[in-house]
This record gives sequence, C-alpha cells and structure tokens, in this order.
Amino acid sequence: MKKIIFFVMTTTCLCACNNKKSSADSDLKTPAITDFNYKVDTFADMEILRYRVPEIEKLTTKQKELLYYLNEAALQGRDILYDQNGKYNLYIRRTLEHIYTNFDGDKNSNDFKAVETYLKRVWVSNGIHHHYGNHKFIPEFSQDFLTVEIKKLPETAFEKIGLNAEELISTIVPVIFDPIIASTRLNQAAGVDQITASASNYYENVNQKEVEAFYSNMKKPNDETPVSYGLNSKLVKENGKIFEKTYKIGGLYSSAIEKTVYWLQKAAAVAENEQQKSVIEKLVDYYKSGDLKKFDDYSISWVADTLSHIDFINGFIETYGDPMGMKASWEANVNFKNAEATKRTEIISANAQWFEDNSPVDKQFKKEKVKGIAAKVINVSIIGGDSYPTTPIGINLPNSNWIRAVHGSKSVTIENITEAYDQASHGNGFAEEFVWSKTELDLINEYKFKTDNLHTDLHECLGHGSGKLLQGVDPDALQSYGSTIEEARADLFGLYFIADPKIVELGLLPNAEAYKAEYYSFFMNGLLTQQVRIEIGKNIEEAHMRNRQLIARYVLEKSADDKAIELKVCDEKTFVVINDYQKVRQHLGELLAEIQRIKSTGDFDAARNIVENYAVKLDVVLHKEIIERYAKLNIAPYKGFVNPVYTPIFDDDNNFIDLKIDYTEKFVEQHLRYSRDYSDLPSLND
Ligand code: ZN
Repeated sequence: MKKIIFFVMTTTCLCACNNKKSSADSDLKTPAITDFNYKVDTFADMEILRYRVPEIEKLTTKQKELLYYLNEAALQGRDILYDQNGKYNLYIRRTLEHIYTNFDGDKNSNDFKAVETYLKRVWVSNGIHHHYGNHKFIPEFSQDFLTVEIKKLPETAFEKIGLNAEELISTIVPVIFDPIIASTRLNQAAGVDQITASASNYYENVNQKEVEAFYSNMKKPNDETPVSYGLNSKLVKENGKIFEKTYKIGGLYSSAIEKTVYWLQKAAAVAENEQQKSVIEKLVDYYKSGDLKKFDDYSISWVADTLSHIDFINGFIETYGDPMGMKASWEANVNFKNAEATKRTEIISANAQWFEDNSPVDKQFKKEKVKGIAAKVINVSIIGGDSYPTTPIGINLPNSNWIRAVHGSKSVTIENITEAYDQASHGNGFAEEFVWSKTELDLINEYKFKTDNLHTDLHECLGHGSGKLLQGVDPDALQSYGSTIEEARADLFGLYFIADPKIVELGLLPNAEAYKAEYYSFFMNGLLTQQVRIEIGKNIEEAHMRNRQLIARYVLEKSADDKAIELKVCDEKTFVVINDYQKVRQHLGELLAEIQRIKSTGDFDAARNIVENYAVKLDVVLHKEIIERYAKLNIAPYKGFVNPVYTPIFDDDNNFIDLKIDYTEKFVEQHLRYSRDYSDLPSLND
C-alpha cells in the first residue's frame, strides 16, 4: 500500500482542549426515555440491548395474528445460518449448551465463566467466528476442561449431536482451539484462494478457479434478466463432479425450511390483502422448488406490495458472508410501518428523480427515469437468522440489479433499533472523548439522531437505487470489491445530498447547520473510532467498515492542500477537525462520481486500487491510540439485541384473539429457548 501521508502531526497545539474539557458535562439533548430499560447484558466486546415495539397495540386482531405467524417463520432458520457460517458450528453450539446447562461444579470457577462467555459469543456470531471481524475467537477454558466435561454429559445429550463423546472430541477440539484451522470465516485478501482460505460453509472441495469457472459457464451471455446464480446453494465436488446442493424442501436444510413454510402458509391465510397473500405464496413456491426464477417472481411481487401495513424479510438474501459475493445467508425480520416517520421517506421518494438529476455523477451513468423507490420507516417485531442478534438499521432490497432497474426496490429504516442504539449511548462519555470541541459536540447532541436516520434513508432509498450499469457490464465484475464499492456509492449519495439546500427546503432538516453533525461524526467514525472494532495488527474486512474508511481517507487525502479536513493531535490525542464543510462536500461529490464510474463500467482494476489503497489497512500507531482511549471508557464496541417474547391468546374455539408482548427475557434464556424450540437441523448437513 502507499504511504499514508494524510496523517498530519501538529507540534503546536492549536486545538480547543479547553472547550473540550468544559463540554464534558454538557447535557444530551435527545430526551432519554426513562421508563424502558434498554440494557440486558454485557460480555467480551458486546452489549446486548432490548428494543421497544411501539404501537403494536394499535394493530388489529387479524394483523396481530399475521404478525405472530410471520414471527414464528422468522425464527425457524436460525440453525441454517450456523451451518452456513461453519461446518462444525452446530456441533459446537449444541455441545456447549449441554455443558452449560448440565454443569454441576463451581459456577464461579474461571472455567465455567469462560464457557459462559464463549457460548454467548457463539450465540452472538451464530458460530465460532467473530460476527463482524470474521476471525475465529479462542475460548479461555482449556482443552482438558472441555474434554472432561464432554465425557460427563448424559447419554441424551448426544442424540441430537449425532456423535459419541470420542468422535465429538476429535471433531470439535481442533476446530475450536487450533489457531490454524478455520482461522477466518471470510478471507478476501488479494492473492489468496478466497474459497479455500475462508471457513464459511458455502463450498466444499472446490477452489476459487473451479467456482469461477462453474458460474461463468452457467451465465448466459446477454441475459437481460439473469437469476441470482448460486444464491441458494452450496457448491460441492464429489467423486470429481462439481454440482450445487440447493437449499429447499427435499434438499439441503429441508427440515428447517419445512417449518418456515408451515408458518408462512398460516400467515398467507390471514394476509392483509391479495397482493400480500400472493407474495407469501410465491415465497413458499420458491422454498419448495429452490428455483431461482421463482425467487425473482417473489421479489418482484414483494417490491410491488407497498400497501400492506405489515411486511417481512425471510430467506437467503444478503451475500456478505460469501467471499465470492454470490451465496446468501439466511435472514429474517418482521416489521410494520411507523406512519409518522414514514412521511420523511415519502418526501425523499417523491423527489427521487430530482436527486438523480442533480447528483454529481457523469450523465451517462445516471438513470433517465428512477423507478419505484418505495421507502418507509418501520419498527421490527422480530429479527432472525443473519439479522439476529446483531441487526442492520436500514435495508434495501431486492439485490438483483435487473429487478431493481425494471421494478424498483423497497427500502426501510428501522427506527425502533436506531432508537435503542441512541438511548443506550446516553452519557457513556464517547463523544466527549473523541469530538474536537464543544462546537461539534453541540451539533451532535442537537442533530445527530435526526441526521443519522436521514442519512440511512438517503443511503437506502436513493443511494443503492441510483445510477445504472452501462450496457453489457457484468453486475459481478467488481468481484470481491463489489460490496465495498456498492456501500460507498450509497453512503456517498447520502452524504453529498444531506448537505444540499434542497434537504432544508423539503423540511427534512431544520436548518443549514444540521448536516454538519452527520459530516463530523461520519469522518470521526471513518478515520478514528470505527477502528475500536478491529484487533491491533488486523485489517478491515467488513464491507461497510471498508467503505467508511475509504470515503474518509480519500477525502482527507484530497484535503491535503485546501485543509478542508485534517487530523490534529492535542495532548497526544488525535482528533478530526473540519475547517470547511462545503469543500468537504465537494470532495465527497468528486468521489461519488468516481465510484459510480467504477460501478457503471465494471472497472475491476480501479475498484481494487481504491479499496486496497484507502479501505483496508490501518495505521498501527493511531490504531493503538484509539483503542487505548476507547478502553478507558469501558464501552462495548458492538451491540446486539434480544427479541421480545410473543404469546398468542386463543379463545375456547381456538380462534386467535390477541398477542401478548413481553420484554423481560434475558439473553441466555432466549438463546437456550431458541435452541430448544427452533432447532430441527442435524448437526452435520450434507
Ligand atoms: Zn447499504
């Protein structure tokens, strides 16, 4: 990588240290919701929160019934994700759960506590690799302890595991403890065989060349409506033959998919309208057949359903876990519209064409006609699979490029999750430590909850939907750099326009100052604070984190002459200082134009260069400093959630009459319950 020249060390301290000190006790202005306890648990690098489901009581009885069935469907695929994330994950989770619940020794011993922490981390990550950093985390109990405890387990424990004690020990001990085996879930390093170097379970006995050849043979030239090749299968080589094992009823993961379909069919029977009923039925058809054309039919129908109050995601959707970006992990959520906040996104959608026309990208890469961007603000009632327990705050689907171009996409911001994040961060000292001066701190306190939500709306409902590929460009041309480039494109679109006078004109922000809260916190995050999520010596792997650093470092480098933005050091602490917000916006616009060009033309070399140069590597000295400052605050860098518990009420004739919601379940209890009630897959799936 090229030398980092943007890191400006100032010896004379010009900073606002005095301001900073006086601001440490300033009040946060977003009012705290005091009668709801957001905090559930903390361990390792995690804090577990609960979220409210506002206005659930306003749903009709029939809507509550629908919500309940969809909720149940959303919990059935949990085991699928464990298996996708790693071949031995279900063995390991089940073994650890048995040890945890059967343990009759000293529960205050270090070994037992280490089991508890490790098991919690497995639950958070849906496997043995860190959910965000992808590296394998190693437990703090010993191999001997694990071996002894496995041998003590009752006979019944081994039924679902499917191995005897000796077999189990020889299978999982090396996978858990040997740092060489399955060391990372996702390896997208340049120059390695990304398939064989990744421990995720989307491929077996094939290398990257074979995978690339298999799928390029499958793709038809000049296909205007290609299916999402490889999306719902594992690619394997058996007896010299390479073929797909499809996720479907009667195929891979059948027992979990059957249960999902059972609940979806109950949901279809109480759908809000015919359109929604047909959406659910199409999803069922797809789960039964595994036919990707049927998945496209479902996606098209789902995009068209904009009138239903309740909506859901359920299936093999996002491809971040596959080094090739083709195979999708199972995820789900169920949600309903937040009517008040949705007015905001309706304004954005109604003006989508204006934003497209006025974006700084080259005309040939713009959409002449922006189609059907349906945007809304939602509250989730349940999150499952790859959206649980850590969850995105904004979603834009479907992912198929041609469906987006022809039929549009649906975009959501999840406000009850962002509310939980916001409420849980009150008074934790983070902003006071990393923000340059009282000016920026006041901006953040005043506007950040608003601007964060707006940026997410712009990212999801305009950013991902903007621009077009030039004719004949392969949508997968950017390969492993595709996700980072796509996220950068969406973030840049949002950042560029959040500072536009049009936003104030449309009433989306109260004044021309508010956007500065978003700019400052975005750059502070991208240049400094997101690094707390990475271990010293490691690179950035995750696409969203790569995208944020890409944008922040690129703009910092372009500011070398005009000093629009710089890093300053004060009392041996590094801060972001923005001297000229409008010039920063100009640099963001230039970068947006370049990123869109890369995407539109499928310029793989440019994608690789910009990602490798700006997005991946960390400055070790700065990284250490940030980690040390952060450690003193005692804040967990990652947040996860527990779901509420829903209990249906039936009358004597077995008619559904109400849905009770309860927020009191704790993290451990929830996972043990899910493993008991929603766990039908064998431990080894092939
Ligand atoms: Zn995105």
